[in-house]
Amino acid sequence: AEKEKIAIVGSGLIGQSWSMIFAGSGHKVAIFDIYPEQVSKALDNIRSTLTGYEAQGCLRGELSATQQAELISGSSSLEDCLRGAQYVQECVPESVDLKRGVFEQMDEFITEDMVVATSSSCLAVSQFASGLRNKQRTLVAHPVNPPYFIPLVEIVPGPWTLPEVTAKTRSLLESVGQSPVTLSKEVAGFALNRIQYSIINECWSMFKEGLLSAADIDKVMVNGLGPRYAFIGPLETMHLNADGIVDYCKRYGQGAYNVCATLTPPPVLYDVPTAQRVLQELEQVIPLDQVAERRRWRDHRLASLASLKNKL
Ligand code: NAD
Repeated sequence: AEKEKIAIVGSGLIGQSWSMIFAGSGHKVAIFDIYPEQVSKALDNIRSTLTGYEAQGCLRGELSATQQAELISGSSSLEDCLRGAQYVQECVPESVDLKRGVFEQMDEFITEDMVVATSSSCLAVSQFASGLRNKQRTLVAHPVNPPYFIPLVEIVPGPWTLPEVTAKTRSLLESVGQSPVTLSKEVAGFALNRIQYSIINECWSMFKEGLLSAADIDKVMVNGLGPRYAFIGPLETMHLNADGIVDYCKRYGQGAYNVCATLTPPPVLYDVPTAQRVLQELEQVIPLDQVAERRRWRDHRLASLASLKNKL
């Protein structure tokens, strides 16, 4: 059967990633951008990125890079982009006014069988879609960079999102190989950033207190918690580190509580003077002019980890 058409609105970094993810599973993808020349640039970039992935052996799906690229086309208007699409992924810059404007423009083209998701990293959909006629068909589907190799997507419904819209988003994203999680309601930072910031808070505080160097703090994650967390989460870790999680709480709960009582209470401000001291260490390994190269290095390793996890 023909797969549902996907509409991508905004063709920057994230719009391109989503396009490749959906085309990898055989979906037709239509891309719109406010700048027509950006659409051509995105299509060129997608084609060469897919070819590169194919050469490196990390292309998703059964189709060749050329076949996948052929599934993705540019649209010259928002209306054309959305026509016949069952799922829309909005990927315009993170600005509440910009997103409100785009959602208002989309509103008149939203049909009964359509889901409209925003890639928003921080904004809740209720911050810019509450005035829409079709607000019950909108929600957040927040990917993690680089989405092609990090499968998590945070689904965050607005207060008026239909349960079937949330469910359809989850099953579509699963079907294309992403790993969606569903929050029951809007909360600042969704799940990933709430967890990420609580980790950074403690790293920041330990660095400020001079307990460890910046390099050693990062090593605690990279060579300690990180490898474990690539396969099992913190709750399952508790379960496996004792005879089940209840036993863990009985055995280690009080000890953990005593440690937690010594943590620096949030909020922790990531202040510039401390950041400058961290930078002194970081730039010995990664000077600022090598950050882009280091990002490519990161993406290459994440690609290898993703294919390893698929094989295991
Ligand atoms: P980007 O700047 O790379 O791309 C945005 C694109 O939107 C540009 O091509 C721009 O021309 C286009 N655009 C601007 N106004 C438009 C309009 N009115 N209609 C159509 N297109 C328009 O941004 P990005 O990094 O791809 O981020 C897009 C969204 O994804 C943001 O909400 C961001 O927070 C979220 N996100 C980003 C990351 C990340 O790491 N970059 C990760 C997860 C989620």
